[in-house]
Amino acid sequence: MEIFCPKCGGQFKKIDDETLPAFRCQTCSGLWFTSQPKSDTDIDLATKIDVGDPTIGKIYDLLSDVDCPSCKTKLATVCDPIQEHIQYEICGSCYGVYFDAGEFSDFVLKEENLSKLRDLMWKKRS
Ligand SMILES: [Zn+2]
Ligand SMILES: [Zn+2]
Repeated sequence: MEIFCPKCGGQFKKIDDETLPAFRCQTCSGLWFTSQPKSDTDIDLATKIDVGDPTIGKIYDLLSDVDCPSCKTKLATVCDPIQEHIQYEICGSCYGVYFDAGEFSDFVLKEENLSKLRDLMWKKRS
């Protein structure tokens, strides 16, 4: 199934990694997570998949009124309580999470955020 970036309309490409299932936009390098990162995902790996230019990410960060690329529900913007400069988008229906380029590697600098992301997406299973 082809899915497209809710921010720039670019096409998402699956990142081939078993521990961190995600899609990356081929245009703006935004990241779309459709399932939980595995518990052994480390910061090195998380940083490695976030290859986008943070300058471009910051521009798209201003765009928050967007629909879920997977199920078309309006995404909710979440301000990270620990790193307040980070805003990411989450789908309340399928629990996908979107990060602008450069945001995810910043987000996981706080190690507890990886498990927080898992908690957010955990609801998907219930
Ligand atoms: Zn994009
Ligand atoms: Zn959704």
